[in-house]
Amino acid sequence: MKNFAYLFKHLLALTLIISLNTFANQNTAITETSQTAAFELIVLGDSGGIEDGNLSAFLLRSLNSRNYVALDAGTLVNGINQSVQHNAFADLPIVKNESWSTAGTILREHVKGYLISHAHLDHINGMIVASPEDTNKNIYALASVNNMIGETYFNGKAWANFTDRGIPPTLNKYHVVDLPIAEPVSITDTQLKVTAFSLSHPVESTAFVIENGSDMFVYFGDTGPDIVEKQGKLDAIWTYLAGQAKHKQLRGIVIEASFENERPHNLLFGHLTPKLLLQELHNFASKIGGETPLQNLKVVISHIKYTLAENTNPRLTIKRQLDEANDLGLQIIIPEQGQKWVF
Ligand SMILES: [Zn+2]
Ligand SMILES: [Zn+2]
Repeated sequence: MKNFAYLFKHLLALTLIISLNTFANQNTAITETSQTAAFELIVLGDSGGIEDGNLSAFLLRSLNSRNYVALDAGTLVNGINQSVQHNAFADLPIVKNESWSTAGTILREHVKGYLISHAHLDHINGMIVASPEDTNKNIYALASVNNMIGETYFNGKAWANFTDRGIPPTLNKYHVVDLPIAEPVSITDTQLKVTAFSLSHPVESTAFVIENGSDMFVYFGDTGPDIVEKQGKLDAIWTYLAGQAKHKQLRGIVIEASFENERPHNLLFGHLTPKLLLQELHNFASKIGGETPLQNLKVVISHIKYTLAENTNPRLTIKRQLDEANDLGLQIIIPEQGQKWVF
């Protein structure tokens, strides 16, 4: 009987602790509202140059749908092949098309569109070279990005014009959609909506806020920090997201940290370092308010620059610098090609 009373007392204490923790999470962390995952992210390419076959590209889908949208497409077919080998598509109900390989079926039937952040080659190379065996899709980007893609690549010289606009002859495989700024647009054949924001970079770049019902995921293309770029573009996005986070759940973000902290500001060329990224996220946190507003937010780090230099490992250094600076309680993820993450 004494043992039973002891057990009962401890069970009561444990229940109280769990309740208090739940209460604390509801009040301090914007990412803890629901435990059921809403999005799946496949890492087709994890780096920002210079290794062909592993350039910036991700696939995102709502877990209620079997259709993805590509977030940039620096590496496409190799990324899908690597992800197939790593079983990243294990939870995707694939209806294999007998005429096509597994990668072919995924690209042709399960990827329904491209969100292209900007026209730099390391974000678009995979889409261009795969276009001859791709299926009809929409390319979603800001008008300046779509125009640059048409003038530079789909121009009948660098590559045949697989789109439905620009220099003739147009092959009309890709329908080009100009995204307005800060206005949601539905992504055809998915359950997703996208809202685009302009980012500062040597050419115009883009952040995509992707929504599925009341869940949000944000993908940032290459971007410099406001403190260097002096255009306030990230500040505008943080303000928007802080407003949205009051009634929607921010599941995670992909954002870059291209260079190590030691890189001088005049050599950033529109990119972030760990220190500058944390400064930006502190600005975001201050707009939400509260004690630990970004606690447990999943932050996927993209675009770490690969290097051929000997005796240096930017991924390790950048991971260490991010961990050391992480006083916001972020869950920092350094993704690797072929991985699947859920949010
Ligand atoms: Zn890039
Ligand atoms: Zn770029």
